[in-house]
Amino acid sequence: MTAERSPFPGPRPESAAVRTEGREVSAPGDVPRDNRAPDLETEWSRAVKAIGEAAEICLACHIRPDGDALGSMLAVAQALRVRGAADRPPGSAPPRVIASFGELPLRIPRILRFLPGTDLLTPPDAVPGRPQVMMTFDAASADRLGMLEANAARAGELIVLDHHVSNTSFGTVNLIDPAAAATAVLAHELIGRLGVPVSRDIALGLYAGLVTDTGSFRYSNTSPGVHLLAARLLETGIDPGGVAHELWDRAPFGFLGLLSAVLGRAQLEPAGPGRCGLVWTTVTRADRAAHGLPFEAAESVIDVLRRTDEADVAVVLKEDDDGLWQVSARAKGAADVGRACVALGGGGHPKAAGFTAVGPAADVMAALRQQLAAP
Ligand code: 5GP
Ligand code: MN
Repeated sequence: MTAERSPFPGPRPESAAVRTEGREVSAPGDVPRDNRAPDLETEWSRAVKAIGEAAEICLACHIRPDGDALGSMLAVAQALRVRGAADRPPGSAPPRVIASFGELPLRIPRILRFLPGTDLLTPPDAVPGRPQVMMTFDAASADRLGMLEANAARAGELIVLDHHVSNTSFGTVNLIDPAAAATAVLAHELIGRLGVPVSRDIALGLYAGLVTDTGSFRYSNTSPGVHLLAARLLETGIDPGGVAHELWDRAPFGFLGLLSAVLGRAQLEPAGPGRCGLVWTTVTRADRAAHGLPFEAAESVIDVLRRTDEADVAVVLKEDDDGLWQVSARAKGAADVGRACVALGGGGHPKAAGFTAVGPAADVMAALRQQLAAP
């Protein structure tokens, strides 16, 4: 589970210990926070207290993790290991920190293998069944935890760290802030509140989350606070060009063939009265098999499709290895794909959302169209 190839050569701690010399320290407290509900302050205090008292902390991000889910979790995992080493009285055992996501086999998407800490991940069947304290990352609902949903339900304390407006508040402590551009923003705040300096390795996870969820500072959630946080993270010495290369600028040759096939069959449905323009396509198992590609190869297709000027909404139906459609939807303008996807059992944000479906692609699209047209 280690990186195939890292664009970030140079010393990296073997253990969770973080270097304390050099340029790695940023001050989490000096990044302005966006407006938020005052009662969140109570939740922060409860989270810090629960973490401080725990002998065992299990971390889980959502299945098929993206850069925000895995990056945020690995950043916090590394911070907790540092804190465990530093804060305990001499002779007492540091808290056990277990990080995982609910899929077997635990497959780390190729584009995320550069993240520091992936070698520390535990398969979900080795996660304690009744964790003393469990924390979830970027998961809008408990079912997004996959196999680890049951562990979360039995946890003594369940801290939910997330920024989806659709979050169901399934924790005992809910750190949910839809104003945050990424879960990484909240993970950064947590690390600051725990008093752990942000090392280069921690910053890399947070930065991956920030650039993933802001589309490299292109989406409308890119606030001054986002850029200030990015600046703090870059000060630790991470290489933004290297991160962008890993996340978006590489693919096997077969991807060109896949893209050609799936873009070639894209359908444009012009806006009619009461409707928005819509562009959609499918990426089937057969498409991927023809080019020897894993499911994750389908993830970036939406980024091409969404450019279509004539469409307010872009949709990609991605067939996973179990034959289910993992649907990605994006909106610009007034359309709210988050609401439509929630209605279809999924979740997300107003402009980026998804859901899981079975059945013919035409039926899935008909259901989605109906939700988009709903008043
Ligand atoms: P993506 O299309 O990049 O996979 O996901 C876009 C957004 O929708 C992300 O915030 C993601 O967490 C959410 N999302 C995608 N698929 C699902 C799903 O099946 N269920 C839920 N609850 N959220 C989803
Ligand atoms: Mn996110």
